[in-house]
Amino acid sequence: MTVKKTVPYKTYLTEEEMPKSWYNLRADMKEQHAPFLNPGTLEPIQAADLYPVFAEKLADIEMDETTPYIAIPEDVQNFYKMFRPSPLVRAYELEKLLETPAKIYYKFEGNNTSGSHKLNAAAAMAYYAKEQGLSALTTETGAGQWGTALAVSCAHYKLDLTVFMVKVSFNQKPFRKAVMETYGASIIPSPSTTTAVGRAILEKNPETGGSLGCAISEAIEQSMQDDQCRYALGSVLNQVLVFQSVIGLETKIAMDKLGEYPDVIVGCAGGGSNIGGLMAPYMQDKLTGKGNPRIVAVEPASCPSLTRGKYAYDFCDTGRITPLAKMYTLGSDFMPAPNHAGGLRYHGMSPILSKLYHDGYMEAVSVAQSEVFEAAVAFAKCEQILPAPESAHAIYGAVQEALKCKETGEEKTILFGLTGTGYFDLQAYANFNAGNMSDYIPTDEDLKQGFDGLPNVG
Ligand SMILES: *Cc1c(COP(=O)(O)O)cnc(C)c1O
Repeated sequence: MTVKKTVPYKTYLTEEEMPKSWYNLRADMKEQHAPFLNPGTLEPIQAADLYPVFAEKLADIEMDETTPYIAIPEDVQNFYKMFRPSPLVRAYELEKLLETPAKIYYKFEGNNTSGSHKLNAAAAMAYYAKEQGLSALTTETGAGQWGTALAVSCAHYKLDLTVFMVKVSFNQKPFRKAVMETYGASIIPSPSTTTAVGRAILEKNPETGGSLGCAISEAIEQSMQDDQCRYALGSVLNQVLVFQSVIGLETKIAMDKLGEYPDVIVGCAGGGSNIGGLMAPYMQDKLTGKGNPRIVAVEPASCPSLTRGKYAYDFCDTGRITPLAKMYTLGSDFMPAPNHAGGLRYHGMSPILSKLYHDGYMEAVSVAQSEVFEAAVAFAKCEQILPAPESAHAIYGAVQEALKCKETGEEKTILFGLTGTGYFDLQAYANFNAGNMSDYIPTDEDLKQGFDGLPNVG
């Protein structure tokens, strides 16, 4: 028997319906996250202190606690139209597989060359750098999605780009380098001998495969050598959450049209940008008393910043050159084990998300890698898209919620973020298929080293 589908498989907005402003969650937060501190003086920093590092408009957005809606420049709206709107998909086949009464929706962000949501923020950052008259950007990349997104954006806005790519990923994913170079970027495996901070890290630990924290230090150091160059970061920052709000704003318009409202929102959490963006308008409802969906962040058990980290001031990089941010962190010295979900291997979590989690507005769970890949494969078989391993954490979380509904008979509406595709992660899929997946979970002893290195601040 064929069940009549009253909701379409896919809902796309028209170009006219696409959001014209980003939403800045901070404007509705009851309490702000603790201020960023200058690591030398321990005084709160001002936007102007960030001008040497970020394009000025980006520094202003980073520090903006009061403006709820920030107009998307028309040029960026047009850039977005090349790869947005992204579809909101009803996962009918997944529902059938799970035999759940729940309705499952996902917002799919993988339909662009970066294969992820990262292009939403990269487009805005390259635009503001160009608008200021800068000529170049530097950045880091872990799995390669962010480096690719920024390379695509810098090609569009005719900016030079240097990408410090975490060495393990550089070795695991040679074709990522080829894509970024095709768009004109220069790629340096990190830690490298190009920067003082890279040389110091290599001296201490010559065999290191690197980490996002190391690559951030190198990219910032390099950008400081040239006054026409600034640094861009693809997650964690407040500005990134603002730009990624386009995911949630589109979702809300589409869900409203369908007459749907999520009971649970699930996202994978690396630095927090995709879940921060997806949930943004629904968190606004929570903060203003208009709705109360549960919001669940799913992180890898190998890099568990929310579920096992400390809520403390920490550096955002291994070289300890960034301002201090209060966030859930494993310590900037934490060296994540090689884990296939490269985009989730960061020691800290967005200060905004950390604050909301600390204040009880969100939940978090962690999951071992082989369970994530089981969910990924089941999803690929029924919904056809081969998910990125990062995204598969959200699939896992959504499946758990749907199975709970199966037990209780509740017809809940579950929304999750499918952040990207896994075509550069085929070695990981090959390992999983061969039964060779490592389920490394750090012991308390393993985590101690990172915690011991936390700065002793308030
Ligand atoms: C970078 C990335 C993530 C994780 O980063 P967040 O900032 O937590 O969103 C998740 N999925 C994909 C596909 C990514 O590229």
